[in-house]
Amino acid sequence: MDTAWHIEVHGIVQGVGFRPFVHRLATAIGIRGQVRNAGGHVVISATGPPASLEAFVSGLRTQPPSAARVRDVLVTPVPAEQQTSGFEIVASDVTPATGSEIPPDLATCADCLRELFDRANRRHRYPFINCTACGPRATIIGSLPYDRTRTSMRGFAMCPACATEYRDPSNRRFHAEPIACASCGPRLRWQAMTGETALRAASDAIAAGAVVAVKGLGGFHLVCDAINDEAVSRVRELKARAGKPLAVMVRDTITAGALAGLSDADRALLTAPSAPIVLAPRRHGVLSPGVCHGMPDIGLFLPYTPLHHLLLDALRRPLVVTSANHADSPMPTIEISGLAVDGVLTHDRPIVARYDDSVIRSFGRDSITIRRGRGLAPALLRLPAAAPPLVAVGAQLKSTFTLADGDRAVLGPHIGDLSDAETLQAYDQALDHLSHLQGIEPLHAAHDLHPGYLSTRLARRWPSRIAVQHHHAHVAAVAAEHRLQPPFLGVAYDGLGLGDDGTFWGGELLLASYGGYRRLGRFSRAPMPGGEAAVRRPARMALGYLLGGELSTGSVPGHLPGQEVIARMIARSVNCPDASSAGRLFDAAAALLGLCEVNGFEGEAATRLEQAAAGFPGAEPLAWRLERHDGLWVYDCVATLRHLLEAEADGEPVGRIAAAFHATIAAVTVLLCERAAAEHDVTQVCLAGGVFQNRLLATDVLARLSAAGFEPYIGERVPVNDAGISYGQAAVAAARLSHG
Ligand SMILES: [Zn+2]
Ligand SMILES: [Zn+2]
Repeated sequence: MDTAWHIEVHGIVQGVGFRPFVHRLATAIGIRGQVRNAGGHVVISATGPPASLEAFVSGLRTQPPSAARVRDVLVTPVPAEQQTSGFEIVASDVTPATGSEIPPDLATCADCLRELFDRANRRHRYPFINCTACGPRATIIGSLPYDRTRTSMRGFAMCPACATEYRDPSNRRFHAEPIACASCGPRLRWQAMTGETALRAASDAIAAGAVVAVKGLGGFHLVCDAINDEAVSRVRELKARAGKPLAVMVRDTITAGALAGLSDADRALLTAPSAPIVLAPRRHGVLSPGVCHGMPDIGLFLPYTPLHHLLLDALRRPLVVTSANHADSPMPTIEISGLAVDGVLTHDRPIVARYDDSVIRSFGRDSITIRRGRGLAPALLRLPAAAPPLVAVGAQLKSTFTLADGDRAVLGPHIGDLSDAETLQAYDQALDHLSHLQGIEPLHAAHDLHPGYLSTRLARRWPSRIAVQHHHAHVAAVAAEHRLQPPFLGVAYDGLGLGDDGTFWGGELLLASYGGYRRLGRFSRAPMPGGEAAVRRPARMALGYLLGGELSTGSVPGHLPGQEVIARMIARSVNCPDASSAGRLFDAAAALLGLCEVNGFEGEAATRLEQAAAGFPGAEPLAWRLERHDGLWVYDCVATLRHLLEAEADGEPVGRIAAAFHATIAAVTVLLCERAAAEHDVTQVCLAGGVFQNRLLATDVLARLSAAGFEPYIGERVPVNDAGISYGQAAVAAARLSHG
C-alpha cells in the first residue's frame, strides 16, 4: 500500500543543486511525485511504500550536495494520489520569501575546472563556466526563489545545448541557474576586444607590469604582478593604502606553502568552496616587499572563478588581487571611475550585490573570521531567543548590520568603516537588498550607545529602538554563536567603545546574560591626549599612562616626542578623555619598545608587537597588580609598563619583552576570570573584541583558561572585531524584547 508525504526541506537548499539531487534520489529509490522551490525552502510531494519513503527522507538528510546545508526536514502525511507516475521538477512557487536562505557564492568546483582546461569540452577556456555545485549565487540574486529569471542571468537566453543540459535530470547542470557557454553567456571585454582576445590582452598587460581592474564576483579588483615592485607600489598609491598588507592570489596550495607557513587548517580553508583570504605567517620569498610592508602575516587565497584560473594559468606567478576601492570607500560593482588603472577587464553579467572577499585567520584547531563577505555571507545564523523582525545596525568601524526574525539572523556582508556618505549609501543599499530578499521588515532597531556613530543616527529611522552597550554586544555575539546558556563571563578587549558610565571602555570583564550584564573588572584608566590623535599616535597613549595613569604613574623615557605639551594637556585635562582599553595598552607598549610611531591602520601597533614577540615562546609575565576599586577588580596597567621600561633599560631583547607583555595580559585575564568565578558560579568565558585577532594572545588565553578549568569560547563564524557587533546587538535585543 503506497503512502504520500508532503516534505519541506529547510536550510541552504536553493542554488546548490538540491532539486536535481532530490530527483536522482527519488528516481533511484522509486519514489513518485515532484519537487519545487518555494520561498527559500524546497517542497516535495512523495508517494511510495512507507519503507522507501523512510529511506528517501533519510537520504535527504544524509547525502545532500556538498554545498547544501539541511537544517530541518518536515514531514506531513497526506492522502495518496494513486495516479502520480514518475518524478519531476516543477516551476517555483513565487511566495513571500519567509524562512528563505540565500546561498553564498561558491568557488569553481573540480569538475568545472577539469572542463575549463579540456580542449575537447565545449566550454574549454570559457571564463563563466559553472554548475549546480559552483558559481555565482548571492552576488547575482535579485529576489527569491532562486531561479534564473530572478538573477542577473535573466538577460542571457540559453542556447539549445545549454537548455538541453539544464533540463536533463541526469546532467550535473540540471537546473544550474547561471548555466552559460561561450555562445550564449556572459562575455569578457577589454577595450574593443572580447573573449579570448580580451583575456590575452589583459594578461599581457599584467605581465608587462600594468595595474588592471578586473570585474569579479562581488565587485572589481585591482590586479598586478605581486613580484613587480613598481606595479605593487602603484596599487598602493591608487588605493591610498599605506601599511595594510595586500592580498595575494596564487595558483595552488603548493605555491601558497612556499609563500607562507601553512597549517593543515589553513590548507583546508584555502580550498573550501568559500575560498577566503587566509592570513598566515609570511615566509621570506619572491614577493615584492611592498605587498606586506614588513607585516608578519600575508593574506593568500586561491582562484575562485574560472576567470581567475585562466589569468593565473596564463601568468604563472602570484598576483596582487585587492578590492578596487580608494581608501575607505566601498568596492565598485558597476564601473571603475576615478582610479587611474592601465586597463579594465570587464564582462556583461551585472553584479546585483556587493561582496568583498572574506578574511580568516586560523590558530590550532580554531579559526576566526576577520571579515565575513563573499563565500560566507549571507549564510543564516541563529539567535538564542526568538525576535520580532528587527535590524541591528552595528558600530562605526567595520560596520555591518544584522537582520533578524524569529531565531533567524542574517549578518550582512563587510562594507567598510561607516565614515563617509559613500559607505553609508553602500550600507543602506545592502540593507535594503537583504531585507527585501529575506522578507524582513524591521519593527525595531538595535544600536550602539555612542550617539555620534553614523549607525546610531541611522537607527533613528525606527521609532522603537534598543541601545546596546558595545562590549556587551561583543560578548553576546560570541555566546550566541556558540548557543551558550547564560550566565557567562565576557572578556572584551578592543580599542574603544562607549561604556554605560560615559567613559571609554575596552579592557572589560563582564558577567553577562543575553539581556543584561554586570561589570566585574577592567583595565586601569588612562587619559588619551588629543582623543583621536592618541589612537593614531601610540606614543601619546604611552605618555597618557605614564603621566596620568589611574592607579599609578611612571617616569618617562627620553625618546618619546612631544612630552611637555602632552604633560600640560594631561595636567589641565584638556581634550584627554579617559579610557580603560586593552587596545590602547598594546599601543602604549609598542610605542615604548620603539615598534610603532603611527597606527597606519586599526591595530597596526598591536600587530607589530605580536610580530616582535614571535621568536620568544614561553616568556615569563612582567609585573602586574590587581586592585579592588569601587567594587571592581582593576588591573594596574602602569605597573606592567614600568617593568617593561626597566627590562628595556637592562638591555633585554625587544622581542622577549614583547612576548613577556603578551604573557602578562594572558595571566591577568585568567586571574580576573578566577576572581569572578570565586564569587559567581560560572565557568563559560567568551573572548571578544578586536584585540583577540592577535593569534599569540588568543592562543595563550584559550590554553590558560582551559588549564584553569574554564570553558573558553571565541568568535569563529562571527568576527571578534566590530564587524560582529551587529549580531551581538541582535541577540541582546531579541532577549530584551522577548522578556519585555
Ligand atoms: Zn562546477
Ligand atoms: Zn549556451
